[in-house]
Amino acid sequence: MIKTVNLQKKYTTDEVETTALHRVNLEIKDGEFVAIMGPSGCGKSTLLNILGLLDNPTYGELYFQGQNVANYSEKQRADLRKTNIGFVFQSFNLIEELTVFENIELPLIYQKLSSAEIRNRVTTTMEKLQIAHRHHHFPQQLSGGQQQRVAIARAIICSPPLILADEPTGNLDSATSQEVMNLLAELNEAGTTIIMVTHSPTDAEYSRRIIRLFDGKVRTENTQKPAYAKE
Ligand code: ADP
Ligand code: ADP
Repeated sequence: MIKTVNLQKKYTTDEVETTALHRVNLEIKDGEFVAIMGPSGCGKSTLLNILGLLDNPTYGELYFQGQNVANYSEKQRADLRKTNIGFVFQSFNLIEELTVFENIELPLIYQKLSSAEIRNRVTTTMEKLQIAHRHHHFPQQLSGGQQQRVAIARAIICSPPLILADEPTGNLDSATSQEVMNLLAELNEAGTTIIMVTHSPTDAEYSRRIIRLFDGKVRTENTQKPAYAKE
């Protein structure tokens, strides 16, 4: 799915250069569930943004489904993201002015689908995530766990092969976090590749491999667990 070769990212602000990633070499295969962990400032978000084609690396190669995309333009990256990647964020990133239904249907609006087809797909996804009864509510009227389920529904509505999650349980209590992690685990079992940044060792237990970053370098990469290890 993704491979990086000597991936580097530098930021320059006010003539001060920060190397956020140093020569990162990684390979993430189809169907994996990978957790990225490490202390604050070690480069996790930078890495996730590059793997998610939100940003380009400064040096190095980045292969996405076999194509070297390291120097893709914003337009080329956006096209690849739209069909291949669903994003889930700590802060949910829902649009407050839109209802649950309207938030979830957003990624479909750019596709040429009939309104009946859109309604069908949104309804099926809402039912799967148990939020159908809230379809006409606005994000502010929902609990954090419900908002994250809406965000996950939006992320999977186009059935992307890859989901990137940045601290998906960061704003949730532990019971709700477990529900969200179980959802991600189910999606992974159904074949979706998942790459998740987390501070939570409990969340990381749901993954099959942990990549630890330290000062912009991959420090340890655990071997893949043989099977999904649910408690
Ligand atoms: P993490 O997600 O692990 O907290 P980040 O990827 O956000 O780490 O940041 C890695 C390093 O890059 C930090 O030193 C951070 O200050 C720096 N950094 C991140 N984004 C920017 C930016 N847009 N401009 C300048 N420096 C940045
Ligand atoms: P946090 O790390 O606090 O959870 P977010 O997950 O909200 O922060 O955002 C992580 C990164 O992804 C930020 O650099 C942000 O600009 C970018 N981002 C957030 N939402 C979107 C979006 N809907 N589309 C593209 N990029 C986004």
